[in-house]
Amino acid sequence: MRTLKTLTVTILAAACLALPAGWAANKQTAKPKPYPLTTCVVSGQKLGGMGAPYVFTHGNREIKLCCKGCLKAFQKDPAKYLKKIEEAEAQAQKAPKAK
Ligand SMILES: [Zn+2]
Repeated sequence: MRTLKTLTVTILAAACLALPAGWAANKQTAKPKPYPLTTCVVSGQKLGGMGAPYVFTHGNREIKLCCKGCLKAFQKDPAKYLKKIEEAEAQAQKAPKAK
């Protein structure tokens, strides 16, 4: 019966991996929180206005900047920009999305 047990464990492990992202949201390995703004948090430029936005992950959060040049400014004072992002996120959760 050892084989059957191993098989069961394998299936359970596979089921865990296949669980929806929402269920795993609290885990360390969860997907980063989406970026709530449509503008660059550093420059205020509309994302995509200068070509593809620069996207990266900071902690558990996805950050989008209008260009890679803004990354330097972000890294200088990430707390300041994260605060802006969190404020925007709180706003977005209060009001239903306009789009
Ligand atoms: Zn920029």
